[in-house]
Amino acid sequence: MMQAAFNVLNTVFGYENFRAPQDQVIEAALSGEDVFVLMPTGGGKSLCYQIPALVRNGVGIVISPLIALMHDQVNALNQAGIRAACMNSSMSSNENYQTEQQALRGEIDVIYLAPERLTLPKTIEWLHQVQVSLFAIDEAHCVSQWGHDFRSDYLQLSLLQQYFPNVPRMALTATADEKTRQEIIERLGLGQAKVFVSGFDRPNIQYRITPKNNPKAQLLTFLQNEHQGHAGVVYCLSRKKVEATALWLSEQGIHALPYHAGLDKSIRQVNQQRFLNEDSIVMVATVAFGMGIDKPDVRFVAHLDMPKSIEAYYQETGRAGRDGQASTAWMAYGLEDVIKLKQMMAGSDANEQFKRIEQTKLNGMLGLAELTSCRRQMLMNYFGDELNTPCGNCDNCLTPVQTWDGTQAARKALSCVYRTDQKFGVVHLINVLRGKVTEKVSQFNHQQVSTFGIGQDLNDGQWRSVFRQLVARGYLNVNFDYGQLYLSDTSRAILRGEESLMLRVDVIQASANNRNGNISKGKKNKEDIPADQQEMWQALRTCRKNLATEQGIPPFMIFHDTTLQEMLHSKPATIEAFANISGVGKKKLEKYGLEFIAVIEQYQ
Ligand code: ADP
Ligand code: ZN
Repeated sequence: MMQAAFNVLNTVFGYENFRAPQDQVIEAALSGEDVFVLMPTGGGKSLCYQIPALVRNGVGIVISPLIALMHDQVNALNQAGIRAACMNSSMSSNENYQTEQQALRGEIDVIYLAPERLTLPKTIEWLHQVQVSLFAIDEAHCVSQWGHDFRSDYLQLSLLQQYFPNVPRMALTATADEKTRQEIIERLGLGQAKVFVSGFDRPNIQYRITPKNNPKAQLLTFLQNEHQGHAGVVYCLSRKKVEATALWLSEQGIHALPYHAGLDKSIRQVNQQRFLNEDSIVMVATVAFGMGIDKPDVRFVAHLDMPKSIEAYYQETGRAGRDGQASTAWMAYGLEDVIKLKQMMAGSDANEQFKRIEQTKLNGMLGLAELTSCRRQMLMNYFGDELNTPCGNCDNCLTPVQTWDGTQAARKALSCVYRTDQKFGVVHLINVLRGKVTEKVSQFNHQQVSTFGIGQDLNDGQWRSVFRQLVARGYLNVNFDYGQLYLSDTSRAILRGEESLMLRVDVIQASANNRNGNISKGKKNKEDIPADQQEMWQALRTCRKNLATEQGIPPFMIFHDTTLQEMLHSKPATIEAFANISGVGKKKLEKYGLEFIAVIEQYQ
């Protein structure tokens, strides 16, 4: 059976070898076992169930939470010559009926199904009449209430075990944390399943978190210096900011489009299609955008606002670089982010337990932002994985962070909070420390407090940095009403001189490139095409683009960039040589081989 799986890998998908642990997962599924697969984004989960669905008799049923994603997957499979279809509410009842009939006649290998449809009595009845080769439950973390994409329909999937005890089930997810994992296994009744957990690391993503001063300009510099002409996503918290940022970037000559839940559905659809089909769209979006976007060549994810948890940060940044090529996760982060998020949590009317969880998660995120050591080590550690040595591909590894003894400054700041009765926000506190007689200072007679003017040694920006770190590290709390700061229990030790405090030296820079030139060297970037090959590269891309446009599908569904790159390097002149390129299966060879060979010929 494994030989058959291997043949499918070679001839249908055009790949030479399995990636670990694809072969083991497939072997288990082929022998009829239930399987739980946890693999990072881009790890190659789809093949884990697609190949058994093709090798085993009958039709593989794939449960997937998002209609858009189903269509993309079906398109991609059809491109490879696989008989696949989807059934969901966006298809006409006639189309769904046709698919049902094809399955009964054994004329289809893979069907993607929406979860709410699966559990309808008539679907169960139909499935009992067809031969089901396996059930794959994609994005299985949707069953978890602890996770952040909970879908109540997913809970019903526990029924599969009862109704189809003899059909192997495979649950797949990229969500890393232990608690979610346990919940999936429990709720889907996968206690007997073979579990495959690969590392969560995404080594091709470079993590960078930079102090914020002029975020729009910092973003622009980042885009211009490092991601000119690349596709990427810029995340903002509010719809208003999404629109303003997209507009501003467009005025600066960047192909930026907005996406948020408040936009008209048709606009959202057009923008999403353009993002998928064109090469260099920057999507400025709220988190409403992203899940179900399977574009492999997203080269960067930028955050202008800080996510509320490491889980959210990792999921959002994880949308970069699915193709394994060098990509950047960049975030600008500042005092306002900390105050705003803390304030929001203080004002949340959720129950106490939930609030505590949220607080803990936010503190984790703040810890990551303020970290002075390897970011990836902390990320991996957070998800219960271990990275023994610093990664060499995050900002802190590439440009070690300077620290300074901030004990005195912290004491001044904390006493100032205390002396002004813990009733003021950062701006006022800094004015008092720096001895500025503003209207408000006069109004409250704060020239008279003992901390007035004791902070002349630092400038506004430096004080902001001190306050940010004090709030982020929990020495100061934020009041919900107006963001007033007040002392936490832990601040006492510092005020009493019992504890010292090392702080980060903030280096404000958009692009770490011009610091010492070593950022972004990580892995070779796909755009590092030598000048003398640029023309052929562009010709290959144009050929791909034309073929995609004809069929109304995104170019990456014809061939990925990595496949085009191999053409560029090995210049296959014959059909046999072309067939050897990774990513060229039998069907694509037939459909596109001659056309690409004709392009390549011009550059032999
Ligand atoms: P995931 O669903 O885990 O995020 P995908 O299944 O979309 O990942 O696969 C990520 C990329 O890796 C896809 O472009 C896929 O074609 C490619 N891929 C998967 N398995 C292999 C393999 N064995 N050899 C080469 N490329 C592979
Ligand atoms: Zn690192």
